[in-house]
Amino acid sequence: MPGKMQVDDLALFGGSPVFAIAKSTSNLLQPNFEQFMAYSDLFLQAQRYIDGGPAVQLLERRLAEFHRVAHCITFCSGFWALALTIAALAIPGKREIIMPSLTYRRMPDIVAWLGLTPHFCDVDPQMLSLSAATVTPHINDNTALILAPHPIVNCCDVRGLVQLAHERKLPLFFDSVESVYESTPEGKIGGQGHAEAFSLHACKLLNGFGGGYITTQDSKLAQQLASLRHYGMDESGKVVLSYGMNASLNEMHAALALASLDDVEHQVQRNRERYRTYQSGLAQVSGIRLIAFDEQHATAYKNIVVELLDDWPLSREETIRILNAEGILARSYYAPPLHCKPMDFAFIAPPLPVTEWLAERFMNLPCGHLVCNQDIGHIVDILVFIAAQAEPIGTRLRSRGVA
Ligand SMILES: *Cc1c(COP(=O)(O)O)cnc(C)c1O
Repeated sequence: MPGKMQVDDLALFGGSPVFAIAKSTSNLLQPNFEQFMAYSDLFLQAQRYIDGGPAVQLLERRLAEFHRVAHCITFCSGFWALALTIAALAIPGKREIIMPSLTYRRMPDIVAWLGLTPHFCDVDPQMLSLSAATVTPHINDNTALILAPHPIVNCCDVRGLVQLAHERKLPLFFDSVESVYESTPEGKIGGQGHAEAFSLHACKLLNGFGGGYITTQDSKLAQQLASLRHYGMDESGKVVLSYGMNASLNEMHAALALASLDDVEHQVQRNRERYRTYQSGLAQVSGIRLIAFDEQHATAYKNIVVELLDDWPLSREETIRILNAEGILARSYYAPPLHCKPMDFAFIAPPLPVTEWLAERFMNLPCGHLVCNQDIGHIVDILVFIAAQAEPIGTRLRSRGVA
């Protein structure tokens, strides 16, 4: 890489960027192409392209096995998997969906599509996720469901949430998009709560171009979801649910997802190496704390999230600007939090002090299939350089508006 000797060498100030092709935080897995073609042969032979052809059927069986759960139902996206499952699980007549504010950007939109109301709760400062303690104060007579997304590193307290939902007789739905491979003391992710949601978007662990799926132990729910995604029809083609839609996964996407699933153990090994490289590199950078994976349980080592501590010399936004200019597409971690975003629909947002504090401190660093260990070395070098040159960089940034 072009080594940075002085502040002027930073791309933000006119130097050449470290990466000509930017490194992102998207996974962008490229599974084996021959395997993808072999799985595609299944639907080509059968001349079935959508609505439950052989690749989708095989994928659903394989994913159910993978998550050790009774049922897997695929969808055209994680978004619609979430929306249709919330529609199926929410207590009829009740309107509020409890969810954290420090989470996936589109979460409240999904709820708004259903005509329901997001009710934001705070998060646990260690886990960065909701917990039984942070949900409890928000349960009221109008609560329809608890929507529990796992954080992007490690898992939320499954046991506490399951117990709370049981005690309060509320449906509990996990968004496990970022925890596909993970396990908790309660067992493998996939079989917890009433259902769990996953995505096959190209930026997630399993690439199916796009798509999503639900896992559940509940056969009645599984049947209902299979019908909801397919015009509300049952297997014989009779319309049994009047609010069904067209949200099935197509066969080609299922074929890529199957090839991705075949590669998952290898991917986790590659991710572990990336994580180790970040771990040893960032250990020399004071002011930055890498969030550690809980290695006592299965983990995909997928996302690299760091906390900028009080002694980190620049603001997070300044840091991200410098990195982005270098082709390092670092991003702020779920900021601004959802309850601080303007939204065109009603939502309930009590004061969320922990969320607001945390929302200022974290950022995601590049990871995934297209980031190699050498790239990570360059990323660490830039952070070391920023820390060493913080004073002149800060002066430069603040003295004149940088284009
Ligand atoms: C990406 C994502 C989704 C949505 O999945 P899509 O397949 O992109 O619609 C839902 N929840 C979380 C936590 C996500 O990161």
